[in-house]
Amino acid sequence: MKCPKCKGTNLSAQKRGFGIGKALVGAAATGGVGLAAGFIGSNKIKVHCLKCGHKWDPTTQAKAEEAERKRIKRERSDARWAERKAQRK
Ligand SMILES: [Zn+2]
Repeated sequence: MKCPKCKGTNLSAQKRGFGIGKALVGAAATGGVGLAAGFIGSNKIKVHCLKCGHKWDPTTQAKAEEAERKRIKRERSDARWAERKAQRK
């Protein structure tokens, strides 16, 4: 997980006032996207970037990333389809 603003990986997370920052930073260091995804299900989480101070909701971010992945996938398949169509002429 990275800060969407400065791409920093020095993050802290808070869940209902309890610091789970160390767990999340540890997970980020080991590429623990799965652990972050686990937090998403429990909501009420804010991730805080220690570098630039940006705060965000990882649930919203994950949804936006998923939508972006789908959009890119769709664009690629559209491009392939257009290519095949052009070759057929
Ligand atoms: Zn940041």
